[in-house]
Formats: sequence, structure tokens, C-alpha cells
Amino acid sequence: MSDPIIVIVSGPGGAGKGTIVETLVQRDSALWLSRSWTTRVQREGESDDAYVFVDKAAFQERIDSGGFLEWTEFLGNFYGSPAPSVDQGVDIVLEIELHGAQQVKERHPEAILVFVQPPSRDEQRRRLQGRGDSEEHVVQRLKKAEDEERLGAQQADVVIVNDDLERAVAEIQGIIGAARSARR
Ligand code: ADP
Ligand code: 5GP
Repeated sequence: MSDPIIVIVSGPGGAGKGTIVETLVQRDSALWLSRSWTTRVQREGESDDAYVFVDKAAFQERIDSGGFLEWTEFLGNFYGSPAPSVDQGVDIVLEIELHGAQQVKERHPEAILVFVQPPSRDEQRRRLQGRGDSEEHVVQRLKKAEDEERLGAQQADVVIVNDDLERAVAEIQGIIGAARSARR
């Protein structure tokens, strides 16, 4: 059987990455969403399985044992993707920032990097505030978005503006469908 397709979804906070990847995996049983580890505290209202929430010692232990496909520090917290052990026939979605995406691309150059952008900075702010992020988080994420979007435009295989969720999801479904056809 052939290797899984790896789709990396990246983009600034509030662009809608989490919403998009959840929708993708709900609609496609042959897609598996990697659950990251983080040392960030759980947001109010955030689902318990959004991440594996751990302390720094547990995260460091996993780094030391080589248990991450990639990991990084982002705005003062650690985030990492456990090395995947996936059933044959299932493709992989990673929702990670660009430094991690680069590490995955180095190990798997065929991975597809999709960069999701918010339609505007104002709309991004509204989405972050609407999600209940603290004002400090909102300010940090908006500030970081400028650099992320510049790098994203350089590194991504495709840039998608998430103004309309259905269209954004359909675009990524199209990309995955094309990669599956090319694999056959
Ligand atoms: P990210 O994972 O990129 O930080 P989220 O998926 O958590 O972003 O989305 C941030 C907020 O924006 C959520 O409240 C989500 O429901 C909302 N959202 C996502 N996509 C859209 C869209 N296309 N239009 C309007 N709101 C959206
Ligand atoms: P948040 O705190 O908003 O959930 O995530 C902050 C950033 O970390 C987002 O850009 C998100 O995509 C990224 N991220 C989440 N999990 C991982 C991971 O496992 N590895 C890397 N490199 N980034 C991650």
C-alpha cells in the first residue's frame, strides 16, 4: 500500500484552521487528524481533546525520547506533533504553525502545505474575540500574523482565504482529491 498523503494546515490564529480541519475529518473518514501536545493552558470553552495538555516536564520527556515528528515553541508555549502511527489507507492532517511545517517538509517533501488566511485583520480580531481569547492573546496573535502571512506566502503550496468556510473546505477537499488521484 502507498504512503499516506500528509496535509499540513497552517495560518495565523483566528484564521479558522481548527474549524476547517474539524470539518474535513468529519466529512472524510479516510482522513486522520493528528492531536498535538501543548504546554499551553486550556482556553475557556476549549474541548478537552483539542490537545493533549501537558506540563513542561512531560513535554521535555517526549522530546528526549524522540517521540515528536516535529515540535516548536510558539508565543511562550511548546507545541508538538507526536510521531504518527496510523492505519494503512488513512491520510494525515496536521494543524501546526510554520516552523513545524518546515520540519515536516524536510522529512516528507511530498507533504502539502496549505496556508489559511483570514479575510482581513479586523475579521481575524472579531473571530479571536468571539472565540473568547484573552485580550493579551488577541494582541499577540494579531501582531504575529504579519510575519506568518509573509512567510506563508513564500512557503505554502497553496494559500486559501477563509472568508467562506464551505468554499475553503471544498478547496482543500479538491487538493486532497487531486493528490489521491495522482497516487493511484
Ligand atoms: P484557528 O484554529 O485558526 O485559530 P478557529 O478555527 O478557532 O481558528 O476559528 C476562530 C473563530 O472563527 C471560531 O469562533 C470559528 O467558529 C470562527 N470561524 C472560522 N471560520 C469562519 C468563517 N469562514 N467565517 C466566520 N467565522 C469563522
Ligand atoms: P493555539 O494556541 O492557538 O491553539 O495554537 C498556536 C499555534 O500553534 C497555531 O498556529 C497552531 O497551528 C500551532 N500548533 C498547534 N499544534 C502544533 C504542533 O503540534 N506543532 C506545531 N509546530 N505547531 C502547532
